[in-house]
Amino acid sequence: MPTTTSIKHNIQQTRQRIATAERKYGRKPGSVELLAVSKAQPVTSILAALEQQQYHFGENYLQEALNKIDALQGHPIVWHYIGAIQSNKTRPIAEQFDWVHSVCSLKIAKRLSVQRPATHPDLNICIQLNVSAEESKSGATLAELPTLATEIAALPHIKLRGLMAIPQKAENLDQQRAIFHAVQQAQQRLIDAGHPLDTLSLGMSADLEAAVAEGSTMVRIGTAIFGPRKTP
Ligand SMILES: *Cc1c(COP(=O)(O)O)cnc(C)c1O
Repeated sequence: MPTTTSIKHNIQQTRQRIATAERKYGRKPGSVELLAVSKAQPVTSILAALEQQQYHFGENYLQEALNKIDALQGHPIVWHYIGAIQSNKTRPIAEQFDWVHSVCSLKIAKRLSVQRPATHPDLNICIQLNVSAEESKSGATLAELPTLATEIAALPHIKLRGLMAIPQKAENLDQQRAIFHAVQQAQQRLIDAGHPLDTLSLGMSADLEAAVAEGSTMVRIGTAIFGPRKTP
């Protein structure tokens, strides 16, 4: 189990990695948000991160996430859902999260739109892109993206903010960058088509630098902050 001291140290190091990459690749300082991925980590670890003014947290497993959201009520946390979405489980996501990075279909987006309470601010949405178009991976394909984005952007109570991708492990920085570049290009085509997108959710512990180099605005970092995960 990670200690409060190690989490403090790891957050400082991760912020340093982001700042260094921003400088190295000509990005504006502070333009890359750190999303701490707390899946399969205890509430005590989230509290330790909060002490370091870390407020954005990402979760993958719905029931575990709902328990934590409940336990941490009153803390100024921005909750991001980044896991697979079953269509019969969209309601608690629509009601309890601020962001959803893993929207893969119009069907899911419509459910989130209908189920988002009108009293809440719009739910922030990223479309998950399957860059390699593998059968086994979830995400929209490049081919279906333009139509999907237009349809999702028209829905009430949700706001399309950008794209998210989880590439397969690459061998080196250049390969990582090539995949992220394809996502950034897809995002740019949507912007050129008139979508006011401002979020590119790219980069994890192992490929943060490549993601910042290619325009990521939000890196999703788990292991580098909280250490290895226990199986949920
Ligand atoms: C687990 C997970 C992360 C964090 O991965 P690390 O390698 O631990 O940094 C980021 N994004 C998604 C979608 C994840 O499932």
